[in-house]
Amino acid sequence: MKIIVSKIPKEGIEIHSSVDATGLNIDSSDFILNDNVHIDALINKDGDIFFVDGSIKTVIQVTCSRCAMDFPYPVYTVFHCHEEPVSSANKDMDMALKRGDMDVDHYAGDEVEINNLFREQLILAVPMYPLCRPDCPGLCLICGHNLNNGNCGCKKEDADNPFAVIKKLFE
Ligand SMILES: [Zn+2]
Ligand SMILES: [Zn+2]
Repeated sequence: MKIIVSKIPKEGIEIHSSVDATGLNIDSSDFILNDNVHIDALINKDGDIFFVDGSIKTVIQVTCSRCAMDFPYPVYTVFHCHEEPVSSANKDMDMALKRGDMDVDHYAGDEVEINNLFREQLILAVPMYPLCRPDCPGLCLICGHNLNNGNCGCKKEDADNPFAVIKKLFE
């Protein structure tokens, strides 16, 4: 969805949309969407600066960082973006560095593909180390069994012993 910055009306632009992976340019190597991405946003303008306040809701498929199982992860994120033209980038960068915040983004030209901003916000909301549940026991260090499916019978002491894996290879 393209936004012409100079044509944003005084009352702003309201967005209520439901976009699929292609619409947001989400690659399956990023993550898999289990649902459309529901976007609600309001775009306001002050001179050549525009602001986007909104929320994104969807369900993505992620892989547990402990047990390597895929599971659905509901995403709900609320964001406030502040977009300034590239021409003021250097000046702002100095100010942002001084203030210690880097929340200011920059756009080039008058025409902005607003879905890129939504895409970025969604990616920011994806956890780096997702867990299928907070106390996921992960995989057995000795035999690789998924401990969510019950115990494998390996002895805990074996896991602490660096020679256990080698010993296992000869069994
Ligand atoms: Zn897990
Ligand atoms: Zn085991």
